[in-house]
Amino acid sequence: MLGSAAGGGAPQWNCACAVCLDGRADRTQDTVAVSGDGTVWYLINAGPDIRSQILRTPDLAPGPGLRQTPVRGVLLTTAELDHTLGLLSLREAVRLEVYATAAVTEALAPVRSMLGHYTDLRWRAMPVRLDGGLDLDRLTVGRKRPRYAADLDGADWVSALRLTDRRTGSSFVYATCLPAWTAEFDAFVAGADQVLLDGTFATEDELTRATGRPGSASSMGHLPMASSRVHAARHPGTRFRYGHVNNTNPSTADVVADGSELLTS
Ligand SMILES: [Zn+2]
Repeated sequence: MLGSAAGGGAPQWNCACAVCLDGRADRTQDTVAVSGDGTVWYLINAGPDIRSQILRTPDLAPGPGLRQTPVRGVLLTTAELDHTLGLLSLREAVRLEVYATAAVTEALAPVRSMLGHYTDLRWRAMPVRLDGGLDLDRLTVGRKRPRYAADLDGADWVSALRLTDRRTGSSFVYATCLPAWTAEFDAFVAGADQVLLDGTFATEDELTRATGRPGSASSMGHLPMASSRVHAARHPGTRFRYGHVNNTNPSTADVVADGSELLTS
């Protein structure tokens, strides 16, 4: 877990809500690093905090070659800015693989254009067999576009990812932007060892109660924890935890911290 916060981090620089002011909030923005062999690593999303997140993670240290890095590529689940601004901070890479849906790829055309001048950028589709022993499957879970892409078409805007270790069969599902727990999503998580769920909001009306700003959790594309816990309880063999925690969410039960390890075997 490189970062466990929703967009803005916690504390958020301009927020004076109770959670941000109490001094205990210390979360950088949502990003996870995954590996099947401990040598080749992929980032799930690349947020604005990506440079400091990589630097404080020993597994992601560069070397032994002068410009060698264990970070092979980035798996994008949305085109939202809190998941994609970090791509520009990876421009020093000799080569960078980015995996995304057609809709996300189109929305990020300006970023692709800029980044392509700095690194050997390889843009790829999912599902795919990744290096290092992982298979990557994808499910569209939402159609909410980023505000900057409101006029674009496309359907596959928000994805859940399932990574399976080809050697052991163990698997991890990442779904930190989950608008609803559909039958398709229920089948997607079935049998997984670990699932990282949408922990943006604890309850449907949390944002308005904490900050006075309008907007229910569902209207913003996030199933509240109070609802997803009911569904998760039907999968007793799977460990469910929560990431992408908004700075207004005071929950601690099953909530991951920055730096946590989510081992599946
Ligand atoms: Zn706050």
